[in-house]
Amino acid sequence: MPATLIDGKAFAQKVRDRVAESVAALKASHGITPGLAVIIVGHDPASQVYVRNKVRQTAEVGMNSFHFEMDSTVDQKTLIAKVRELNEDPSVNGILVQLPLPKHIDEAAVIEAIDPKKDVDGFHVINSGLLATGGGGMVPCTPLGCLMMLEDHLGDMSGLKAVIVGRSNIVGKPMAQLLLDANCTVTVAHSRTKDLPAEVAAADIIVAAVGRPEMIKGSWIKPGATVIDVGINGIPAPERGDGKTRLVGDVEFAAACNRAGAITPVPGGVGPMTIACLLKNTVTATLKQHNIDA
Ligand code: NDP
Repeated sequence: MPATLIDGKAFAQKVRDRVAESVAALKASHGITPGLAVIIVGHDPASQVYVRNKVRQTAEVGMNSFHFEMDSTVDQKTLIAKVRELNEDPSVNGILVQLPLPKHIDEAAVIEAIDPKKDVDGFHVINSGLLATGGGGMVPCTPLGCLMMLEDHLGDMSGLKAVIVGRSNIVGKPMAQLLLDANCTVTVAHSRTKDLPAEVAAADIIVAAVGRPEMIKGSWIKPGATVIDVGINGIPAPERGDGKTRLVGDVEFAAACNRAGAITPVPGGVGPMTIACLLKNTVTATLKQHNIDA
């Protein structure tokens, strides 16, 4: 039987609807409108599209959206000064600095300058530390979106074997922590893993976050497993005309559909959930900053 498609687009809409309800309730009960500030440095076209979507969706759920564009030649001191200014601004509850930053800027130094309470991306060392030691901080948006889809589809995940392919700080590592907290038995695979097909074949849950088009083969997947494909890769699409590309994930989708129990498509899976979780995190941050119970 072909795999069930996990519709991230529809799920993200539900999350945004709930966020919009929370924002309206917060305005009515406390007169507070959550505010999300996004800083983008340079003119990377993919980042520009992503940031435009964030700004639009922030406004759609009724939050205040602040958008700052800086030239790619901006120096680190100026960027950090902007972050500090936003840290002090009470109308800003969440701060996101769009990554990657130009090479002359130390990304870690910029992330560390963000007030951890306003770090809605969950990348600050305080928040990653909290995630590793029992929670209570801001959780990175992409793994949070993956977890929500898994919980929605599988319910209790206790005892299931999960393999995460990729160990980045923004996806793989926090995803491992979240699945451990959900009582899965977790394996994190990476470029030095000896027998990736065997690791994948043993898993009930596969989270692919590699950045290599369709490298995880359908034939590796255990029949009935749940597959979350985080990868976003543009590949040539000659059928669409001159120089055009199309998006594929890290999993060989067509073949995987014949083995998996459920799978997220690319596009329309993890991507929409990432922005929805950013909005959700901004509401969470606002409530905490004002000591309001959720
Ligand atoms: P990184 O490049 O930071 O990490 C990639 C990971 O994949 C590394 O841990 C690397 O291992 C591992 N890897 C590389 N080659 C192999 C291989 N042959 N076998 C096994 N593991 C391998 O990527 P990100 O985590 O930032 O992103 C991963 C993908 O997810 C990208 O396609 C990105 O575009 C996408 N993404 C999508 C988001 C969304 O909203 N949908 C959000 C964030 C990312 P090692 O550590 O050993 O080098």
